[in-house]
Amino acid sequence: NSTILLNNRPEGRPQESDFKFVESEKPSAKDGEILLETKYVSVDPYLRGRMRDQKSYIEPFELNEPITSHIIAEVIETKNDNFKEGDLVTGMLAWKKYQTTSGEQLNKIDTDLAPATAYLGILGMTGLTAYFGLTKIGEPKDGETLVVSGAAGAVGTVVGQIGKIKGCKVIGTAGTDDKVELLKDKFGYDEAINYKTTDNMKEAIASAAPNGVDVYFDNVGGDITDAVLANIARNARVINCGAISVYNDTETPTGPRVEPILIKNSVSMQGFTIGNYQSQFKEGMQQLGKWLKEDKLTYSETIVEGFDNIPQAFIDLFDGKNQGKMIVKV
Ligand code: NDP
Repeated sequence: NSTILLNNRPEGRPQESDFKFVESEKPSAKDGEILLETKYVSVDPYLRGRMRDQKSYIEPFELNEPITSHIIAEVIETKNDNFKEGDLVTGMLAWKKYQTTSGEQLNKIDTDLAPATAYLGILGMTGLTAYFGLTKIGEPKDGETLVVSGAAGAVGTVVGQIGKIKGCKVIGTAGTDDKVELLKDKFGYDEAINYKTTDNMKEAIASAAPNGVDVYFDNVGGDITDAVLANIARNARVINCGAISVYNDTETPTGPRVEPILIKNSVSMQGFTIGNYQSQFKEGMQQLGKWLKEDKLTYSETIVEGFDNIPQAFIDLFDGKNQGKMIVKV
C-alpha cells in the first residue's frame, strides 16, 4: 500500500520534497469496516492553508501524517451491512491507495446521474461553493454585471454559468489565452481577460464593465481584486471565496486601502467557507443536478493519471495548469 505524508510545512511555493511516500501492507476490513480502493483524488488550493501550522476554520495537517482531501473510492471488501462490494463512495479520505474505515461520513454516489468525477467538482465542493457563494452572498440580479476572478478554474467556471442563468453580464479573468477562449466559447462568459498579458487591469475591467461591477466573485485576491474594486458599482456585493494569489506569501500582503471605496459606494464584502452551508448541501446538489440535466450547466476537468502524481498536480494549481476541476485518477 502507498501513502502520502506531509514531510515539511512548505515555505512559499509547495515543492515535491514537502511530501513523502511510504509503503506498507495492504490493510483488510475488520468487523464493521470497509476496505476502500482510491479511484479519484481531488487536489484543491485550500489544502495549502492546512499545511501551515496556524489556527483556521479547519485543523492543520500534522507532519508525517497522511494528507486528506475529497476522494472517490470503491468498496472492495465489506464487513459493514451498509455497504456492498462495488459501491462508489465519496468523502474526506487519506491520500492512500487502500484504506479501511467505518464508513461514517461517507456518501454513496450514483453514477447513473453523473460520472463519478462530477462528485468532486460540479456536484461536489467546488460546484456548491460557486452556487452558495454567488446566490446567497452575491444575490445577482437580472441585468447586473458580474466579474469572476480565477474564472477558468473549478469554482469559476460554475460561477459564470450561474451568473448567466441569473441574467447577468459576465466577465472573467484567467491566466492563458486558451482559458479566455474557453470561457467565452464553452462557459458563456460575455468577456474574458488574460491577466498575465494585460498591462493595465484597471482599464481592462473598466472597458469590459462600463457601468461598474455589481457583483465580484473573487477566487484569487491580490492585484486583480485591486483592479476590480477600482471599478466597483454602487451597492455592489463582493464575495471573498479564495485568494490563491497570496496563499504562498510568507509576509502579510499589503495593497491599496479599500475602506474609502467600500464606504463611498456602499459596497458589502463578505468572506465565507462552504461549510457554512452544510445544512443546505442537498438543496444545492439538487439545483446543480437539475441545471446539468437541462444543459444549462456544463463543466471541464483536468485529469492527471497516477497516484505518484498527486503532489505535483496539487503544486500545478499554483501555475494554472488546470482548466476546470483538477483531479488525479489513481
Ligand atoms: P481552481 O480550479 O480555480 O485552480 C486554481 C487556479 O488559480 C489556477 O488554475 C490558476 O488559474 C489560478 N491561479 C493560480 N495562481 C494564481 C495567481 N497568483 N493569481 C491569479 N490566479 C492564480 O481552484 P478552485 O476552483 O478549487 O478554487 C478557486 C478558489 O476558491 C481558490 O482560491 C480556493 O481556495 C477557493 N475556494 C474556496 C472555498 C470556500 O469555501 N471559500 C471552497 C473552494 C475553493 P490561472 O491560469 O487563471 O492563473
